[in-house]
Amino acid sequence: VLSVKGVSKHFGGLKAVDDVTFEVRRGEILGLIGPNGSGKSTLFNCILGQLPASGGKVEVDGRDVAGLRPCDLNLLGVGRTFQMLQVFPEMTVLENIILAGQEHKGTMFSRLFGKPDAGLTDEAKRMIEFFRLTHQTNEKAGSLSYGQQKLLDAAMAFMAGPKLVLLDEPAGGVNLTMLAHLKERLKAFNEERGATFVVIEHNMEFVMSLCTRIIVLANGRIIAEGEPEAVRNDPQVIEAYLGG
Ligand code: ATP
Ligand code: MG
Repeated sequence: VLSVKGVSKHFGGLKAVDDVTFEVRRGEILGLIGPNGSGKSTLFNCILGQLPASGGKVEVDGRDVAGLRPCDLNLLGVGRTFQMLQVFPEMTVLENIILAGQEHKGTMFSRLFGKPDAGLTDEAKRMIEFFRLTHQTNEKAGSLSYGQQKLLDAAMAFMAGPKLVLLDEPAGGVNLTMLAHLKERLKAFNEERGATFVVIEHNMEFVMSLCTRIIVLANGRIIAEGEPEAVRNDPQVIEAYLGG
């Protein structure tokens, strides 16, 4: 689904992402971990075209995505979340999801001038149900608990899916009960719709139990890659975290 070849991103003299190469197969849940500042979010930004890479190539389903805007990628079925919540607190849960759907489907006209079509509203309601936010449908997003807002944030990215969703710290600041729910829903979406995920996460329990494969970044480079258990016990990985 996703192929990242030799991608680099330099900020002045700093190599934030340094010659990173990996592939993600359809249906995989890949974890991307590494100490603070190791380049994870920057790599997402380069993959999605939100930052121009200094070098390298990114392909989605064999198609070179260089020069495509994030909204073009949405049309290809690629979505993402950001480290910071992207929900609109003054809008209801339903309005947030519909807006995300309109953005992802590129219906600029209906976004600016018209009502959402019935199909999109139905899809939004199904997504709300899927994430078990039904009781909050007509509540303002800003009135939800932080964990519920993180769920909403993920649901909004999924409106672009289901091909490939990049999640930047979906579990950050989420309590244990909500974590279990979030993990269960991500797994369900992956299995039921064949969606592919790349997940940046600092919560080791969460990422190790969710992902089928893990890549570890340190100083912009991949220092380890493999199954969760192998990566967890890799001395180089432990050292990177202690040193970082
Ligand atoms: P965290 O786990 O804390 O979110 P991260 O792995 O996502 O960290 P990045 O945000 O990708 O790390 O940052 C990688 C490096 O690039 C850091 O040293 C950061 O200071 C630097 N950096 C990121 N964005 C910019 C920018 N726009 N201009 C200059 N330097 C940047
Ligand atoms: Mg980050």
